[in-house]
Amino acid sequence: MSRILIIEDEVAIADLEKDYLELSGFEVEIENAGDTGLERALKDKFDLIVLDLMLPGIDGFEVCRRIRDEKNVPILMVSAKKDDIDKIRGLGLGADDYMTKPFSPSELVARVKAHMARYERLTSSHQKMNDIVEIRGLKIDKTARRVWVDGEEKAFTTKEFDLLTFLAENPNHVFTKEELFREIWDMESIGDIATVTVHIKKIREKVEFDTANPQYIETIWGVGYRFKI
Ligand code: CA
Repeated sequence: MSRILIIEDEVAIADLEKDYLELSGFEVEIENAGDTGLERALKDKFDLIVLDLMLPGIDGFEVCRRIRDEKNVPILMVSAKKDDIDKIRGLGLGADDYMTKPFSPSELVARVKAHMARYERLTSSHQKMNDIVEIRGLKIDKTARRVWVDGEEKAFTTKEFDLLTFLAENPNHVFTKEELFREIWDMESIGDIATVTVHIKKIREKVEFDTANPQYIETIWGVGYRFKI
């Protein structure tokens, strides 16, 4: 049976959500605070998490970020304020869906079912055979040569893809531009190390939320680049 964790401080809402989800055949657990919810989400195995934004202890933004650092479980965020949804998106926390309160319990059930079906497809045995590199909100499918940033697919040229994948597979290792050029372009290639700089810039425009403060590819001045983990 699929297990769902509801992290919600309003007991009446949590109970209502639980009742409807249980009627649909899910096993449901409730945590009423951010810190206990986070602990539970990291410790136990759940198939989906319904996460309220305003919580005592740690807020939903932080809970989402910390679950996503460790787990791929679908997260459905719930907020009383419409404005928060833009904020959740902008922060690139890796939530899979958002709902604004008040919502109908049947809408919640429908969304939960849709996300579970999608997650099962993604983690099915066929998909597992694909070689996937996943670091925070960045997902690289090496087999299909596809890249997602916070759930959104981005298009990469062959060399951009090769360079990003090489760096992501060798995190915390500083590479000089010369090393990267030799690794990604063959020796006979026309071009020089400036090509590396141009490609790094293009990659950052696609993967970074703020290119001035890169979360993934860090410039080590006077040396080269490092993929941060
Ligand atoms: Ca709340």
